[in-house]
Amino acid sequence: MGKLSKYIVDLKGLQENVTQYEYILDNQFFADLDAPEVQKGKVTVSLTIKRFSNAFELLFQTEGVVIVQCDRCLDEMEQPISSEDKFTVKFGAKYDDENESLIVIPEEEGTLNVAWFMYEFIALAIPMKHVHPSGKCNNLVSKKLGKLLRTSSNDEDLSEDDFMSEVVDDSSVDEERAIDPRWNELKKIFDNN
Ligand SMILES: [Zn+2]
Repeated sequence: MGKLSKYIVDLKGLQENVTQYEYILDNQFFADLDAPEVQKGKVTVSLTIKRFSNAFELLFQTEGVVIVQCDRCLDEMEQPISSEDKFTVKFGAKYDDENESLIVIPEEEGTLNVAWFMYEFIALAIPMKHVHPSGKCNNLVSKKLGKLLRTSSNDEDLSEDDFMSEVVDDSSVDEERAIDPRWNELKKIFDNN
C-alpha cells in the first residue's frame, strides 16, 4: 500500500469548506494498483471535497485516455473517457463501504485512500463495446478474419493455410498428436474400418 499512500486524503484535517485536488494518473498508477482491467492510460482526476458539519461530499471529475483491447482486431487502442462521480463520506466506528454512495471511515483515522475509487470510476467509464474507428483496425488480423468469415473463396490474396499457420502453431499440435498414444489408438480404429 506504500506506493499508493499519495492518494490518501486527510479529511479530518481539512481546513477549508471546499478543497480541490488534482491527480495525474499514468501507467505507473495502473501498475502500482496492479489493476485487473486497465493497465495503461493517462487520466486527470479533479477531486473537489466539500466539507459539511458531519459529512464530506467528494466529487470526482475524470478525463483522459486509457489503453484497452479493441473488440474487433484485439490490438491495443486508445479509449477516451470522461466521467463525473460522487459519494459522501461520514465518520463512524469502523470502515464500511457497503453503500457505494456513503462511505463510513473510522473517526480516529479520519483519512481515505481514493486510489481504488478513482480506478473504479475509470473502469466504469469505459464503454461496453470499444473498437477502433472505422478503417483503423489492425489490417492483417481484420482482413484474415473477414476472409475466414466469407463463404466465397474467390478472393485469393490470403490462403486459408496462411491464416491457420499464424493463428495456430501447427507444429506444436502435430507434436502433441505424435506423442499422445490415444492418437495411435484412434488411427488403428480408422485403419481397421
Ligand atoms: Zn481494432
